[in-house]
Amino acid sequence: MRAEIIAVGTELLLGQIVNTNAQYLSQGLAELGIDVYYQTVVGDNAERIRAAIETARQRADLLVFTGGLGPTLDDLTRDVLADYLGRGIEVHEPTMHKIEQMSALRGTAFIESNRRQAHLIEGATPLRNDTGLAVGNALSEDGTSYLLLPGPPREMKPMFENDGSAWLREALGESTTLHSVMLKFSGIGESALEDLLLDLIREQSDPTLAPYAKEGEVAVRVSTKARDAEEAERKLEPTLREIRSRTQRYLYAEEDIPMEAAVIRLMTQKRLTLTLAESCTGGMIAASLTTVPGSADAFVGGVVSYSNGVKHKLLGVPMALLEGEGAPGAVSEETAAAMAEGALTAAGADLALSVTGVAGPAGVEGKPVGLVYVGLAERGRPTRVERLQLSGDREGIRIRASKRALHMLWL
Ligand code: ATP
Ligand code: MG
Repeated sequence: MRAEIIAVGTELLLGQIVNTNAQYLSQGLAELGIDVYYQTVVGDNAERIRAAIETARQRADLLVFTGGLGPTLDDLTRDVLADYLGRGIEVHEPTMHKIEQMSALRGTAFIESNRRQAHLIEGATPLRNDTGLAVGNALSEDGTSYLLLPGPPREMKPMFENDGSAWLREALGESTTLHSVMLKFSGIGESALEDLLLDLIREQSDPTLAPYAKEGEVAVRVSTKARDAEEAERKLEPTLREIRSRTQRYLYAEEDIPMEAAVIRLMTQKRLTLTLAESCTGGMIAASLTTVPGSADAFVGGVVSYSNGVKHKLLGVPMALLEGEGAPGAVSEETAAAMAEGALTAAGADLALSVTGVAGPAGVEGKPVGLVYVGLAERGRPTRVERLQLSGDREGIRIRASKRALHMLWL
């Protein structure tokens, strides 16, 4: 089934609101195994809505509308489609009843202006609106299906998820849905990862591979259409196995979870506690770890040692390392190691991560922007430090430094 999403609303064309409904529906339809070929935006104008319907009918067999189901005169979607199909309008009694009940509270003017929200295209299936008044419409004619959803996202989403998807599944008959596995990586850039998987990406057909990159993490979504989870697994597994064998070192999760959640899970499973000594990340890693529910089982707290004074006083980093003639300085392998070891001892944890670097915009200690050292101290094992040269602005460098520090826990 090929779908076209038609978002109706002049405010969309004026740039006053962002078309988040189209994004949401594209994802939702993909999950039902429906391919979206086009997204259209059209203003609140009967002639142009009609033209949009005509165009869409030629290139899609499912038209999903959002917007224009409300009570005001510029809400035209339902009337224009009814007119286009030569159908009349019916009243959906349960919705009218709801409106009448509300009018008892708000007066008769309310009922007049809101009656239209109970209108249904003749013969259409009503779609329940749990968070608003306007009833949704679903119908098929001459091999084309139409789904009419309200504009406000808080009404549109539950309607699509409940009655809308149920109706679509039924319309699709015994059919397949999209099953996908999100593979999440860290410690590797998008292009390096693509290089590792280049042949798989080039030759993909089923399953399909879609790489994503976001704030220091990269992900690959591996998808296939299948009737059930079992069939999906059978189709996905050979590709997943191949990807795993090539990327092992960088793969931190096989589901769409943020790195900090994966860290907390890993630590909790191994019954290990973690502490931090953060300099250029200024508590960012601690903040991200504590967004994860249950993080207290693994993360005991840490030190934001931004100045040399605090690195020395709270973490015991020798002043001789930090300052003075010939000292390696705050941004150095030696300091990263001493910070991690100092934090490990001070907190009595099993593992300690440290970060020290130059986030920019200016260099420090004669060192370039983006130079970052991440350290990992562990009970009974030698301390390790990695030297990174990161790119990006201050915020980007801090985010990447945070992720690369966490990545050390997998190595
Ligand atoms: P209402 O009963 O609120 O009039 P409606 O179904 O008639 O609902 P519209 O009038 O088109 O929908 O839009 C109402 C509001 O919903 C918009 O002002 C906007 O805030 C939101 N909205 C509409 N379309 C979209 C969209 N495509 N993406 C995100 N938000 C939208
Ligand atoms: Mg409206």
